[in-house]
Amino acid sequence: MRLKLRNIFLVYFVVSSAGLMYALLQLGQQCDCTHSTNYALRKEQLSHRGKENLPIIYVVTPTFARPHQRAELTRLSQTLLLVPSLHWILVEDSAERTAAVAELLAQSDLPYTHLNVQTPLAMKLKDSDPNWLKPRGVEQRNEALRWLREHRSPGDRGVVYFADDDNTYSVKIFQEMRYTQKVSVWPVGLVGGLRYEAPLVDNGKVIGFHTAWKTHRPFPIDMAGFAVSLSLLLTHPNARFDPDAERGFLESSLLGQLVTLRELEPRADNCTKVWVWHTRTEKPKLKQEDMLEKQGRGSNPKIFV
Ligand code: UDP
Ligand code: MN
Repeated sequence: MRLKLRNIFLVYFVVSSAGLMYALLQLGQQCDCTHSTNYALRKEQLSHRGKENLPIIYVVTPTFARPHQRAELTRLSQTLLLVPSLHWILVEDSAERTAAVAELLAQSDLPYTHLNVQTPLAMKLKDSDPNWLKPRGVEQRNEALRWLREHRSPGDRGVVYFADDDNTYSVKIFQEMRYTQKVSVWPVGLVGGLRYEAPLVDNGKVIGFHTAWKTHRPFPIDMAGFAVSLSLLLTHPNARFDPDAERGFLESSLLGQLVTLRELEPRADNCTKVWVWHTRTEKPKLKQEDMLEKQGRGSNPKIFV
């Protein structure tokens, strides 16, 4: 009996020591975390490992040539790189797709589609116009909708987000929108003359909006404040943005064709968190360019800015 107890103790000692040694050795190993240091994102990626059908986020971005375009697109593309299962649809407001944007996309490491459509001259903002005078990026967003309807079918799981090139996006907002049934909504910072605009939520349902501007709009939500499921867009083949919509009613012109207020799906902690900001970039002042040009020492046109 005494001998037996000693054997059991010996086996126990050997097994637990081996376990301890193994655990200590693992501590020195490198982790497989080179592509994402963001814990929440890493968790999202890990929890979907093996499940290949993570719904794709289609990010639709209208863009147009201007001195700071490459800066805007670089910043946005590098935010999008942090989001798994994402497809960027970049639509240039131009007669042709430009080489500059094509190159940026090719080097971005993102899955993408490069489209173009020119805003009709009558609808185009002039340099001297204030930017609220006419709606911007409308034909481009509609072109992306046309592309999606041509290249995707109702069985494809996905969500569509209209992300302008000058806003600021937290990666959190993309996690919030991924599982959208119809239309998901959340607050947008620095918009509508307020610190933020947001849907008001009661019992998990949207019951109104925190907004100060044109409060009679059916959906007083900025373009950055909602995402639409791909299947909803495919089952409503004529739903699109109305280029003639009254100022402030562009978002409503699409959403009114797709959902009712009661159907909106609040995200971002019942619309209490701001994870996207309607930032704007100051127009760069380049007046010294002309002066240097005249002196024969202008900037090198081969250097892309
Ligand atoms: N945009 C465009 N063509 C234009 C002006 C703007 O394609 O002539 C794009 C712009 O790059 C942005 C979106 O349309 O992605 C919205 O424009 P903007 O940011 O000027 O609008 P706001 O911030 O005033 O809502
Ligand atoms: Mn903007």
